[in-house]
Amino acid sequence: MSRVLGIDLGTTNTVVAVFDGGRANIIPDLSGNRTTPSIVAFTENGQRLVGFAARNQQITNPENTIYSVKRFMGRRHKEVSHEEKIVPYTILGKPEEFVQIKAGKRKYMPQEIAAMLLRTMKETAEAHLDEDITEAVITVPAYFDESQRKATKDAGEIAGLKVERIINEPTAAALAYGLQARESKQIIVFDFGGGTFDICAIKIEDGNFRVLSVNGNTRLGGDDFDQRIIDIVADDFRRKHRVDLRHDPMALQRLKEAAEKAKTDLSQRLETQIMLPFISIDGRGAKHLEFTLTRETFVSVCIDLFDELRSCCQQVRLGSGLWGRSIADVVMVGGSTRIPKVQEIAKEVFEVEQLQKAINPDEVVGLGAAVLGGVLQGDLHDIRLMDVTAHSLGVELQRDKVGMLIPKNTPIPCHKKRVFSTPQDEQTSVPIRVLEGESKLASANRTLALFQLRGIPKLPRGVPQIMVTFAMDANGILYVAAKDEATGKHQDIEISEGVGLDKTEIERLRKTAAEFDKMDARQETVVDLRNHGEQVLAELAEWFAFNRKLMPKRTEIQIASALDKLRNRVKGRDTAAIRSALKRLDRVVLPLRKAG
Ligand code: AMP
Repeated sequence: MSRVLGIDLGTTNTVVAVFDGGRANIIPDLSGNRTTPSIVAFTENGQRLVGFAARNQQITNPENTIYSVKRFMGRRHKEVSHEEKIVPYTILGKPEEFVQIKAGKRKYMPQEIAAMLLRTMKETAEAHLDEDITEAVITVPAYFDESQRKATKDAGEIAGLKVERIINEPTAAALAYGLQARESKQIIVFDFGGGTFDICAIKIEDGNFRVLSVNGNTRLGGDDFDQRIIDIVADDFRRKHRVDLRHDPMALQRLKEAAEKAKTDLSQRLETQIMLPFISIDGRGAKHLEFTLTRETFVSVCIDLFDELRSCCQQVRLGSGLWGRSIADVVMVGGSTRIPKVQEIAKEVFEVEQLQKAINPDEVVGLGAAVLGGVLQGDLHDIRLMDVTAHSLGVELQRDKVGMLIPKNTPIPCHKKRVFSTPQDEQTSVPIRVLEGESKLASANRTLALFQLRGIPKLPRGVPQIMVTFAMDANGILYVAAKDEATGKHQDIEISEGVGLDKTEIERLRKTAAEFDKMDARQETVVDLRNHGEQVLAELAEWFAFNRKLMPKRTEIQIASALDKLRNRVKGRDTAAIRSALKRLDRVVLPLRKAG
């Protein structure tokens, strides 16, 4: 089997890794960055930017710069009212419809935006490995539901990747961690990133990774802490100057960046300053923002968010029975685990003195995805994953009741059969509403899909026996099949709600994405590429002068020749030639830069 990439598609950052030479390795981009901002922007002159280029222009183009797209994946408009308020771009669609995002002159499904990020990661990997890559493992929060998983898988396919597996982020982290120390143990993975929170108890034994219990919140992340800071600072500014900065997209973007920085500062210190000169101008002149934020205030304005974290942790402690000495490690994953109060909660609930922070929290999920890639490409043996469903699955019964099919924390893959009949005489079709959630009331759960069983023979009520099989695959994606018990005939199932994109839509979006790529290629002018080449040359020349004496002679010659080649090529106008010189340089230099 060819190589299978591991991609951690994060709310804030995306990471790509591959299993190679007996270990999982992060693949850096051409400039050596190991993580890429999960940001896509559309500029006024019709250009599309991805990653750092998109982030660099965010302040001046907030309405067309799409970040945190993960929060909208597989969501209907009515489900994202909170998220919609905190992003400066426009969300479209009727309440019941899946979200669409307005940017530039078009509207996009969140899957399309995510596909642009995934495609960039695919290209980064292809340039680095110098081969075509078509397969990937993509990570999702354990608490993602069915339609969020399906949307992520669709995004991979729109990006031209066959998604071999969707794996839960904490399970991926456990894989990367468990491979380092092979002995049997029980661990907690505390995964808290920019937009989602997962908490998971995992037993590792003889290469088996068995998830015991999972909990979390897909709408709780670092962004929410930033928003609380934005609100107290903006309220204070409004009181002093009678101007609400939240109504000015450019000021708001500056404030958002300052709020995130203040939050990260407070992970180190007890107090920080937010200073934004010339944040607003009116008839009376320019206004400057100055605000002192203490860690104590930060914790107090976010207290309900911390309470929610604590309550999810308590559920996992209860579900797994793990605490204190029965836990080998509480592995901290994701940028938001750097917040001291978050660490305090993890220690308090699981009654441990120390947390495992030695693994890079930004890279471990991507590395774990690559480990699973290693298993799938046949390079790693004796590793088995046993994950569980994060949510209960049922069907709607009469009087707003739920008929449970698959309870939460059931190991996957799994399937469940249930016989349905007709409530009225001579009824030829029956609707089946599949629900996801923990409420006993059908109406309080989320509708995953609405199916119509059609072609039922005309018989008295209760006589037809239709066996419906609900199967959840290892990716946490649901499949439904129905069979008439009397005739053994497979029944038609018509899906009228839910489930996201079908094959033709994915194919259409894949073609549209490819069009975009062609446009990008045209827009990537010779000038851009020359500038990039010159920048790389400037950076590397200094590094090479300093380090060349320490290198083996052969390596020194290789690098000198790759630098010469690029130096010559950036003088010309052949974009393919410049790109190939960059790739060559990348191949000879990166292993050394990584090593030291
Ligand atoms: P991730 O999705 O794992 O990349 O996490 C990104 C989130 O971690 C963002 O909300 C960051 O603001 C947050 N983050 C990164 N570093 C820190 C830090 N030192 N203190 C608090 N939050 C942080």
